[in-house]
Amino acid sequence: PTFDQMGLREDLIRGIYSYGFEKPSAIQQRAIKPVLKGRDLIAQSQSGTGKTATFSISVLQGLDTQIRETQALILSPTRELASQIQRVILALGDYMSVQCHACIGGTNVGEDIRKLDYGQHVVSGTPGRVFDMIRRRNLRTRAIKLLVLDEADEMLNKGFKEQLYDIYRYLPPGCQVVLLSATLPHEVLEMTSKFMTDPVRILV
Ligand code: AMP
Repeated sequence: PTFDQMGLREDLIRGIYSYGFEKPSAIQQRAIKPVLKGRDLIAQSQSGTGKTATFSISVLQGLDTQIRETQALILSPTRELASQIQRVILALGDYMSVQCHACIGGTNVGEDIRKLDYGQHVVSGTPGRVFDMIRRRNLRTRAIKLLVLDEADEMLNKGFKEQLYDIYRYLPPGCQVVLLSATLPHEVLEMTSKFMTDPVRILV
């Protein structure tokens, strides 16, 4: 199987090849299709499997870049990871004129507000700052169709449970959810049962 055979938009395929990928990794072969069909997904996977590109490709394929509203929200446990995800989205989306902002703690709030007011198709952030921006109404959630929870076990280990539930409450009902986690302890499974409907499960 190749990226060309996955039904992806041309400008995205071009971004994928320019980034240097030749063929989809195992997780990409198994996860992208169900997500593009609209299914919720639980992927038990470690870093190094190509998980970031898996959800980044799914996010980019689903965007309408003509609409300058946030359509996908990606949450991860650390500032470094959220920034790294932003870079992958921008690189794979290089031919799509995509706006992706990293909404992370320890940065200037004024700059966050300015970027969000301009309009960001994708927001990659840590739960604390993202919830702050949602509560202030600078990050508007009404057009969000896809929520990605990356390293969900780590987010819960870091004490973000409350913020994750708070954020989820602001999302439109029926929002698609993709969750990635190296381990699936009780707290993660509890979150999947609250946030997801009949998820596809894969172990990579
Ligand atoms: P991750 O699991 O997201 O931490 O990704 C691990 C590494 O694999 C990163 O350096 C990616 O750039 C790389 N990678 C992801 N998907 C592919 C692919 N289809 N072909 C080659 N490298 C890939």
